Amino acid sequence: MSIRKRLFNFNAGPATLPLPVLEEASRGVLEIGNSGMSILEVSHRAEPYESIHAETKVKLLRILGVDPTKFTVLFLGGGASLQFLTLPTNYLSKGETADYVHTGEWSAKAMKEAKPFGTVHLAASSEADKFASIPKDIKVSANSRYLHLTTNNTIEGTQFSTIPNAGPVPLVADFSSEFLSRSLDYSKFSLMYSGAQKNLGPAGVTVVVIRNDFLAQAKEDLPAMLSYKQQAKADSLYNTPPVFSIYVVGLVLKWIESEGGIAKVAARNRRKAEVIYSALEEFPDIYDIVVKNKEDRSDMNLTFRVKPEAREKDFLNGATAKGMEGLKGHRSVGGLRASIYNAFPEEGAVALAQYLREFARK
Ligand SMILES: *Cc1c(COP(=O)(O)O)cnc(C)c1O
Repeated sequence: MSIRKRLFNFNAGPATLPLPVLEEASRGVLEIGNSGMSILEVSHRAEPYESIHAETKVKLLRILGVDPTKFTVLFLGGGASLQFLTLPTNYLSKGETADYVHTGEWSAKAMKEAKPFGTVHLAASSEADKFASIPKDIKVSANSRYLHLTTNNTIEGTQFSTIPNAGPVPLVADFSSEFLSRSLDYSKFSLMYSGAQKNLGPAGVTVVVIRNDFLAQAKEDLPAMLSYKQQAKADSLYNTPPVFSIYVVGLVLKWIESEGGIAKVAARNRRKAEVIYSALEEFPDIYDIVVKNKEDRSDMNLTFRVKPEAREKDFLNGATAKGMEGLKGHRSVGGLRASIYNAFPEEGAVALAQYLREFARK
């Protein structure tokens, strides 16, 4: 089996995966281990899947660098979007407050789902700036149930360069478009969630990492599928989990470790982003980087515009001709976006930088 021509895939999600992962997953689709069965055919309550499930959790906490006795990993369905609802279902009640930092379309959806449960307090917002920056002055209300951040804003192209201090308030983060992309003190977070299809694997599984002391505070007597406690008690096997997606997440984690862990991957992510931002900055008459404050620029989703806008189509056609796909911005904001998650190759970033220069000089 081989690939005719592998494109540089700049899509925001589902997104590019490491080639060694695709190769191993292809073999797993035919036969997993020496089981005589495909990963698509095995029981979720027997070997070899049981080991895959257990090892994937161990690897994830090891890569995060957190104490494995203090955190629980859940593999859930419904995407990050269902976590927008599951989170307040478990932690917010009438008469209580949860704090949210509003940084774009995804945080808007997270807040919308929380509102029916209790008071949603806007701790900070960059709406006045059309979400082209990260708010600096964050005011967390007293006795808040949690502070919710969207650490990387996939659509707008912003990223928290430093994680705000929430004091005694539990810190919760939607890490969907950057999980495991940089070195952070992940032990500070009480709950982290991430749809896999951006930076972790295929669509179908959402990875949730909860600190055990925060898990203990979740409400009881909820519908099982929405209960963090019941999902944790069942080790994410209350019902059939997305077996194949979890398997591929495990392969991606193995790949991250083989690349040298988060620190190495993060350094490469920084170089990839830098090479593209630098090329854009060389031609201010042709390119407009959406996020002006460098500190707020995402290393994962780089948003920019071509001037005049009428040349955008030309730009995209030229990119396609060079084997670069997925550079169109999110339909809600337009413009252009280069999504360069962990698995996106450095050569692809260099190729885009070269094309940006070529196009600008045309
Ligand atoms: C893509 C994305 C989501 C939505 O993820 P689904 O898994 O499609 O529900 C939520 N938050 C962020 C930051 C995202 O990038």
